Formats: sequence, C-alpha cells, structure tokens
Amino acid sequence: MLTDKTAVVTGSTSGIGLAIAQQLAAQGANVVLNGFGDADEIEKLRVNIELQNDVKAYYINADLSQPDSTRQLIQQAVQLTGRIDILVNNAGIQHTDRIENFPTERWDMIMALNLSAVFHATAEVLPHMQKHGWGRIVNIASAHGLVASEFKSAYVAAKHGVVGLSKVTALENAGSGITCNAVCPGWVRTPLVEAQIEALAKKNNTDIETAAKALLAEKQPSLQFVTPQQLGNAVVFLCSDAAEQMTGTTLTLDGGWTAR
Ligand code: NAD
Repeated sequence: MLTDKTAVVTGSTSGIGLAIAQQLAAQGANVVLNGFGDADEIEKLRVNIELQNDVKAYYINADLSQPDSTRQLIQQAVQLTGRIDILVNNAGIQHTDRIENFPTERWDMIMALNLSAVFHATAEVLPHMQKHGWGRIVNIASAHGLVASEFKSAYVAAKHGVVGLSKVTALENAGSGITCNAVCPGWVRTPLVEAQIEALAKKNNTDIETAAKALLAEKQPSLQFVTPQQLGNAVVFLCSDAAEQMTGTTLTLDGGWTAR
C-alpha cells in the first residue's frame, strides 16, 4: 500500500515509534529512524527492517529537544531519500511531580521535545509535501491530549498542544492532499510506562505485575495495555486512501479511558 513512499518516524529506536516504523515498512514504505540508544542495537533494528520488508531504512541521530537539530533531521532525510511523504511525530518523554515541585528544566525539556519538536518538524516538512501534493502528518499525542491526570502538568499541557497544533496543520492544508491527525493512546507498556509502573510498585510496596494491574485499573477500563503494533496499524490506516478525508481530528486507542 505504501510502496515508493518515504516515512520519517521520530523516536523510533524504541516502543511505539519502532512499531510504527516496522508497520509502515511492512506496507512497503522506506523509513527514516531517529532516536537515542546503543549504536549497534540501532543498526540491527535498521538492517532487520530492510531485510524483512525489502525497503530502504535509514537512521539519523538528532536530539529533537533542539529546534535546529529537528529541522536538520527533516533536511537530512530529504537529502538522503529524495522526498518525505509521511511524518510521524512520536518522540516524547515524561516526568511526574506536583506543579509546585516540578523542576523548571523538566518542564522546558518536555515542552521542547513533546510539543515544539512537532512544530519544527512539521514546519520543515510541509513545503516538501505541498510541492508533491500529498502528505500524511501523524502526531502521537495521548489520552493526556484529551483529559488530564494529576502530577503530569508538562506532559498534559504539551499533549493538549499537540492536538491543537494537529488541527491547525490540518486546516492550513485542507484540500491539498495533506492530512494531519493526532493519535491518542492510553497505557502502552513501553520503557516510558515501565518507569511509572516501577515507581508505583515502589510506592505501594508491591511486585511489578501487581503495580501494572493497578496502573491499568486506575484509568483504562479494558484493563489491557494497548500494543505498539496496534498503534502502528492505526498510523498505517491514517496513511491509507480510506483516511483521505480524515484530517484535523484524533484517533483514540485507550481501552475506554476517555469514555468516562
Ligand atoms: P519510549 O521511551 O519507548 O520511546 C521514546 C523514543 O523517543 C525513543 O526512541 C527515544 O530514544 C526517543 N527520544 C527520547 N528523547 C529524544 C530526543 N531528545 N530526541 C530524539 N528522540 C528522543 O516511549 P513510548 O512509550 O514509545 O512513547 C512514544 C510516544 O508515545 C511519546 O510521544 C509518548 O508521549 C506517547 N505515548 C505513550 C504512551 C504509553 O503508554 N507508552 C501513551 C500515550 C502516548
């Protein structure tokens, strides 16, 4: 379905971003990986994607908390691949604390990566997509882009911002062949959430699996984690012809979290 298309997926060396890159490649898209991690491990991921899917996979190391690096990622990806058809803004981090205790540098870092990087990558990629008259921008927001939880001020503010930015991107490009939507996952068991499960286990003095169940019980009525693969498939859907008229909206996979 996506043969001859090229996708840049930010934060794709781990978790949700990696699964999105793998699912896009499974549909024939060439992919540009980005994110932190061990260089040998990343090279293995890159080569596996190429071998398993008969596509080209590239890796660009860029710290997306820096505006210039984010813009350079897009410029380098265009130089490497010739064009970008799909941009998935996925890289993100978390920090939890009460507002009055929230460290300024964590607030600034979450805003820079979870929100401003989405703006800079989008601003840099749009002229390329506009030239070709086709593009898909998918922003990985969160259930926290729709509702709030205590102790996550920066994350909730940034993810609400991502949902708003997705709507503006959609409006400014409506009818041009370019769509922009936000995906809102509930709990997904990735390293980002594993840290929160470990913190809960410590706080409640329980084992990890009991803490994982408690985390789900608090928010996610299905009591099941969303999988990275399910999110990858959701992104593939947003890149399909079926989603051509879907723009400026949210696709929520949260086990019922935001239904109540
Ligand atoms: P993860 O920690 O597994 O992966 C994060 C990725 O971002 C990694 O590849 C990491 O190397 C990369 N990254 C971190 N800092 C970076 C930086 N400065 N520059 C470039 N890359 C950087 O996390 P995840 O759970 O897969 O999260 C991916 C996205 O999904 C995030 O935006 C997160 O907010 C969102 N999300 C996650 C969940 C969940 O339950 N896990 C739920 C809703 C939304």
